[in-house]
Amino acid sequence: MATGYRRLPSVDRLLSHPAMRALAERYSREAVTDLVRQVIDEARQTVSGGGEAPSAETLAERVESKAKAMWQSGPRPVINATGVIIHTNLGRAPLSREALEAILQAARGYSNLEYDLEDGERGSRQAHIRHLLAQLTGAEDALVVNNNASAVLLALAALAQGREVIVSRAEAVEIGGGFRIPDVMRQSGATLVEVGTTNRTYISDYAEAITPNTAALLKVHASNFRISGFTHAPELSELVELGKVHALPVIYDLGSGCLLDTVRFGLAHEPMPQEAMAAGVSLTMFSGDKLLGGPQAGLLMGQKELVQRLSRHPLARSVRIDKLSLAALSATLLHYVKDEAVEKVPVWRMVAAMEKDLKAKARRWAALIGPPAMILKGESTIGGGSLPGEVLPTWLLAIPCTDLPVGAEGLAASLRASTPPVVARILDERLVLDPRTVLPEEEKILVQAVKGALS
Ligand SMILES: *Cc1c(COP(=O)(O)O)cnc(C)c1O
Repeated sequence: MATGYRRLPSVDRLLSHPAMRALAERYSREAVTDLVRQVIDEARQTVSGGGEAPSAETLAERVESKAKAMWQSGPRPVINATGVIIHTNLGRAPLSREALEAILQAARGYSNLEYDLEDGERGSRQAHIRHLLAQLTGAEDALVVNNNASAVLLALAALAQGREVIVSRAEAVEIGGGFRIPDVMRQSGATLVEVGTTNRTYISDYAEAITPNTAALLKVHASNFRISGFTHAPELSELVELGKVHALPVIYDLGSGCLLDTVRFGLAHEPMPQEAMAAGVSLTMFSGDKLLGGPQAGLLMGQKELVQRLSRHPLARSVRIDKLSLAALSATLLHYVKDEAVEKVPVWRMVAAMEKDLKAKARRWAALIGPPAMILKGESTIGGGSLPGEVLPTWLLAIPCTDLPVGAEGLAASLRASTPPVVARILDERLVLDPRTVLPEEEKILVQAVKGALS
């Protein structure tokens, strides 16, 4: 074993290897030395475990591959061929060209982020967005923060700290990624009072739970699951009425909260912020990067007095939106003002894609790839905790994998290893790729990647 150790090069010797010297020209010498040390340490452990000492050549290669894996900027672009439109793990909503341009402009130099150009004085970053949201939803006032989870936290902290908030048991749920309504309420300092049963809650359940210590009534859109069958939930109007009688604000976490009616696209109706405002909800909130199709953000709107209380709360500073997201959000909202969201916002373009066009696309890919590629009728989903159980008919490019030695898993893995990575789905021992979520400029690359993975 001792001889094994002796065969290992010293850190200095490995650093003088031509490949390491080349690496040190592209990265800092300290960073390369660090990796060299790590790789030699690992080799020492191999030797102490009775293994062979790797050659200097092998060690240099290991350093190079570590450098390649660790020192690339991320997140890297990937091609989403899953057919899940709002894929949280793949970054949710892709942005429109105008939103991208807005980010670039805001990032490149200085901006009037918090500067009133008319008066030459300090302004509010909310000024870029408040009027747009108010106009689009009919709200008196609006506020944007970092994401919807922080919008809920801020609303509860500002309006219900140290007091009780009533929520239906069916809505005290986990949204996903560990966002649990009961936990958020605890963090805000509000006490959760659950009423009703998992499947049925009546307005009388809320009414009976009201005490002098009640601060608000909370409604949460069950966005990522569906209770069906013997169920009941009070109408929004009933909650609003009850809130009025007891002078309690009604807070509504919409989750996805889209500005367009999903029924237009053959889907179930997803609750809209306009409806919440029209129904008289005091405060509603939703995400910027779900069906709105914008950047990560939490959009809050409702009664002026409440919105002002939220914006004055100390937490507002901790959860404030950054200038790049703000720029993209304002550009995204303008698509709705111009009534061009279906054409310009990628999420809506994907929702609205016609089955015949998707079929033509899948067929074109199959022809370019050749056998065993084929096309298959399938289903796309909205994802991102929006419209659970709802699907959109699509056509898939399918690669039957039963005759492939690597199998469907192996083929999926090699697609993920291509540049850029392609993420597909596996369905009955077939690898399937859904054109719905693939952007036009990605098609050629995708076809090449599949050909490469098959060869
Ligand atoms: C998605 C979702 C959230 C969390 O929103 P983020 O923008 O991801 O923070 C909160 N509530 C509901 C109902 C949701 O669907």
